Amino acid sequence: MSIDSYEKLDRLPIEKVFKDPVHDYIHVRHTLILDLIDTKEFQRLRRIKQLGTSQFTFHGAEHSRFSHSLGVYELTRRIVDMFERNYPDEWDCSMRLVTLCAALLHDVGHGPFSHTFEKIFETDHESITTDIILSEETEINAVLKRVSHDFPNQVASVITKEHPNPQVVQLISSQIDADRMDYLQRDAYFTGATYGAFDLSRVLRVIRPYKDGIAFQYQGMHAVEDYIVSRFQMYMQVYFHPASRGMEVTLDRLLYRAKQLFNDNTLYPSFELLEPFFKEDAELSDYLKLDDGVLQTAIILWTESKDAYLSELSKMFLNRKPLKSIRYKKDSDEDIVEKLRDIVGSLNYDKELFTMTNSSSDLPYDYKLKNKTPIHLMHSDGSLIELSKASPIVKTLSGSLHGDHRLFVPKEFLEEHSQAINMFQEEYDVFKRYILNGAVIHPEEK
Ligand code: ZN
Repeated sequence: MSIDSYEKLDRLPIEKVFKDPVHDYIHVRHTLILDLIDTKEFQRLRRIKQLGTSQFTFHGAEHSRFSHSLGVYELTRRIVDMFERNYPDEWDCSMRLVTLCAALLHDVGHGPFSHTFEKIFETDHESITTDIILSEETEINAVLKRVSHDFPNQVASVITKEHPNPQVVQLISSQIDADRMDYLQRDAYFTGATYGAFDLSRVLRVIRPYKDGIAFQYQGMHAVEDYIVSRFQMYMQVYFHPASRGMEVTLDRLLYRAKQLFNDNTLYPSFELLEPFFKEDAELSDYLKLDDGVLQTAIILWTESKDAYLSELSKMFLNRKPLKSIRYKKDSDEDIVEKLRDIVGSLNYDKELFTMTNSSSDLPYDYKLKNKTPIHLMHSDGSLIELSKASPIVKTLSGSLHGDHRLFVPKEFLEEHSQAINMFQEEYDVFKRYILNGAVIHPEEK
């Protein structure tokens, strides 16, 4: 059976809806989509928060990867419906199911506090997403195979950007895709930050397919521009917040310590669900047992650890007492950062575990990079113009990295030396001399 005829047979007798605070209703018309939502792998996303450690800065940000995934599905559905209505010659209607499934499943491989977890345990949510789609063991794979034996491969190829149809790939993954449009709006809503609120309905009106991908009608330029600016502001104000990064760094050091102790056979209590990751022989089934609750339970147990460092870091994470940061300049300050780390290490802190640098930077938009498709506006005669050529605002943001570099140290250290730190922020050179001459701290007195 062709995908097209499967798609028609697959329609539910009555459309099903999920009430959503951001998009009002999520509309489901296909049994296939409903059955994917009901799989245990997809339900696991209810137990993983979308924003990781940002919830410790913005307490409203308790939304899950489940709600974001439904949101991406819904935006994609609205776009695909509009393409089918308005652009039947440019859009291949047989792409409907594969596009909707990829939208729904694009984040299914995320784990608890993905960013930090992946770094310590060397996992990768994108490749786990394709594993979940392709593995014979998963319910998701079984549901997708109902369409055809090859259908899981087709869905996975959208995630890996290898799908032959560029329109499908760009809807799910580009510089303005359904994923980003959902998370900007959703994260803005749940954090309470208003920066992410661009004119989504206008963007969805002016998006259109053309032979090489997705473009936007020229008259919709300001809505697209607004999206780029809101993305920039969300990164600066929400995603890169120093307190969230402090919690991230604290979690990173905590997991690093636990792994270190496990390797030395001295992790007490150990934690069975994490052991395959400590041993680096985790299988997909081990990964699918993880969620925020599992990781938090391990951390609660470790607050009682006999290892003073693990216990201290676990308490800091659990009770939101993160390491605090000092901003520095990447190129010129490496020596002073090392010196500061040594000073902290010479006090009662382990240098490896209680200091860490963290850099956050983002490119709001770029049209020159090989792996990033530029955003194109389409004139009424069908000719294209790249966004930054038409918009002075986007031109200003385009191609430049925004963000900062921070050294994280114990809070007490910063408080004790607040005068010196203030000097660092205001009059950097004086501070540098001060530190390098050893005037700040006399370790022998400690
Ligand atoms: Zn996503």
